[in-house]
Amino acid sequence: MDIIRVKTHSRTELLDITGEIQEAINKKGLTDGAVIAYVPHTTAGIIVNEGADPAVKRDILAVLNMVIPDNFDYRHMEGNSPAHIKSSLTGSSVQVIVTSGKLAMGTWQRIFFCEFDGPRNRKVWIQTLKEA
Ligand code: ZN
Repeated sequence: MDIIRVKTHSRTELLDITGEIQEAINKKGLTDGAVIAYVPHTTAGIIVNEGADPAVKRDILAVLNMVIPDNFDYRHMEGNSPAHIKSSLTGSSVQVIVTSGKLAMGTWQRIFFCEFDGPRNRKVWIQTLKEA
């Protein structure tokens, strides 16, 4: 397993970590198989989505913030229930096929770390799987 360290700068933020994940694949020398990127945090997530137009990142965050408001009758004492719920919706891992040493992704797809309770220092665990 490898670890990618992510430093976030805002309360909520989507960070493109596609390059870091590709670097981890290069370091392993994996040619064909898959990679799992797993976020070991309960107030962050990871998604695959469009990276070409930065407005998409903004829209995803804006709608998550609208659907999951800060002001609600939450019971969790720590006060960060919105972040836990957003994390549940985005999920904690993505899996991407690796072909000829490269992430096999659609033209506009990128992998985004999702911060929902930042700014913080975060980790993403990376596991490569070699094709049998
Ligand atoms: Zn909490």
